Amino acid sequence: MLYWESNVEGSELSQSESATDFLRGALQDTNSGKKGFRKYGKLEVGFNLRNDTGGSTNYGSWHSGTTKIDFADFNSNGSLKGWSYNNVDIRSHNMARVFEHEYLGHQRLYRGMSADGTGYKTGAAVDITNGYRRERQLNERLHYEQYYDGRVLFGKTENFETPKALRKYVKQALKSNMHKNYIQRQKKK
Ligand SMILES: [Zn+2]
Repeated sequence: MLYWESNVEGSELSQSESATDFLRGALQDTNSGKKGFRKYGKLEVGFNLRNDTGGSTNYGSWHSGTTKIDFADFNSNGSLKGWSYNNVDIRSHNMARVFEHEYLGHQRLYRGMSADGTGYKTGAAVDITNGYRRERQLNERLHYEQYYDGRVLFGKTENFETPKALRKYVKQALKSNMHKNYIQRQKKK
């Protein structure tokens, strides 16, 4: 296992205590058997990683306890290649947030795509990582995926009384272009 001494001091960036807790647990757990794997899984990081069907991993993935993060899909500042950020700060959606989604979302829940939600909805994995975002005072993801034109909207989920009200807003906002905080997948040339 990796040697863990203590938290790193001196960062001015806001941190998530619950996300850090899970990572600390993974580093301190001395169980190397199946129980440890079920809980903390396996991590693969590198350039142009193969996914399970032989294609290339896109940004990150989680499958049956294996989290993959493909460094080749990120710019040097951590932003995702092929996306425009518009009014969203890079820290709200970068390599760290992808790692959180896959590892501290999917691995923690031990659930695959069913935890993602659909176009308009957040799923359990997005909900759990939105909790980390709140602790860090970062923008939250208002839904899982781009539905019309490759946009993903960001904001504060606490502004909505129910998940249904949030969904309704997301649906309208994607149609009307009124929402200004979003990232957008760039069209392939
Ligand atoms: Zn996911």
